[in-house]
Amino acid sequence: MKVFKFGGASVKDASAVKNVSNIISSFGNEQLVVVVSAMGKTTNALEEIWKAFLKEGKDSLEALRLLEKLKLEHLDIASELFEGNLPDSILEEFAHLRSFIASRKVLNEQFIYDQIVSKGEMISTKIVSEYLNRNELLNNWLDVRDCIFTNRNFREGIVDWDRTEKQLSAAYKNCEKDIVITQGFLGGTAEGMTTTLGREGSDYSAAIFAYCLNAEDLTIWKDVPGVLSADPRKFTRAQLINKLSYQQAMQMTYHGAKVIHHKTIKPLFEKAIPLIVRSFSDLEKPGTVICPKSKGTGRKNGNSEMPPFIVHLNGLAMLRITRKNALPFSENDLASIYVAMGNTYNHAHFSLREADAFLLLVDYQEFRIQSLSQVLEEHFVIQVIERDCDLLTVHDQDIVLPDFLASKRQWMNLKTGKLEQTVFY
Ligand code: ADP
Ligand code: ASP
Ligand code: MG
Repeated sequence: MKVFKFGGASVKDASAVKNVSNIISSFGNEQLVVVVSAMGKTTNALEEIWKAFLKEGKDSLEALRLLEKLKLEHLDIASELFEGNLPDSILEEFAHLRSFIASRKVLNEQFIYDQIVSKGEMISTKIVSEYLNRNELLNNWLDVRDCIFTNRNFREGIVDWDRTEKQLSAAYKNCEKDIVITQGFLGGTAEGMTTTLGREGSDYSAAIFAYCLNAEDLTIWKDVPGVLSADPRKFTRAQLINKLSYQQAMQMTYHGAKVIHHKTIKPLFEKAIPLIVRSFSDLEKPGTVICPKSKGTGRKNGNSEMPPFIVHLNGLAMLRITRKNALPFSENDLASIYVAMGNTYNHAHFSLREADAFLLLVDYQEFRIQSLSQVLEEHFVIQVIERDCDLLTVHDQDIVLPDFLASKRQWMNLKTGKLEQTVFY
């Protein structure tokens, strides 16, 4: 059995969905679990609906207006695919979201986020599944929220692996068709509440399926020919990397290479399941294979030297943490800051220790920074001293500074061997 993952770009409109159907059909009678994300930029649109919902107090007019717009966009795609004969199941998902918004139950904001934003995948998978069924690619639609169990950390549910493994295998056994269509990005709590796994998390969902079902391999279909040495939208000279070991791929995603979600590799590595990243529009090209070291990775015939790469991150915030009593930092202070970072799901992309302050570069997500401040407030003061930082990580390559960084100032720089990191603000 193989696992496929199709992201937003691969289901962004009716012709993209038809292309997905052609790819699936080219695999003949193969058993496939197909993990699908929300269509195009739907998740961003749903985030805007969530923000409007939180802002609007009693009436949710703007949220409902934005929802109507999103619904029309989906109905356009569906009308083209189904020639006007729309499946009720799609309309039901929109009706359900509309009544959730209209009911205006004010609950935990992050809980509401997951209830609203999860609809993108619910709707896209119903459209894809129905289209395949009507075109003789008979499939089972599987509700992933009953299979991937997470804790109640809304917006980044942490997977309960034991429970997920049992439930997922049982649910898969009940699917009698060779093709199973399911949602990326979503999970569910033991109490039946919907959660999400973090933005761009569908790659991770696909890896969870591959791990729990002992898949032969996982293929992630993308709008790029595979993993490149850099994001081709930002660095035009980016080169395709044919093979990577799990460790190399983890190193790239750790530094933030957006092509694969950073949690994807570990479960595959644990069961030595190969990951193939390939183009959904150029089916002749084999893409990038990520597999164990022994299968020959790296530049020089089987040696595992890390190939050159560049990662650029933006939208980062520099935090300055000081002690309330103005004493210098001890090792125990650093330990408690890192524990608090872990518990509040903040990730440090870069850090610098000064005598009386600790600087940490994190994603600028206000709610996470607020939780960190709350946890640490007894002994520490946390300030956001810059909220529009960039981080450029370059491994083993000489580069000309790209235009989008030309107007920024270099702030900090660290060079360790072939790896160089520069913070801009
Ligand atoms: P999807 O959500 O459709 O699966 P993503 O947009 O998340 O796809 O990922 C594909 C995009 O990742 C590409 O369009 C490319 O701009 C970007 N990207 C960033 N870094 C890399 C890299 N090293 N190699 C290839 N693509 C990259
Ligand atoms: N739809 C989600 C997002 O845009 C998950 C994903 O695409 O991987 O973040
Ligand atoms: Mg994505």
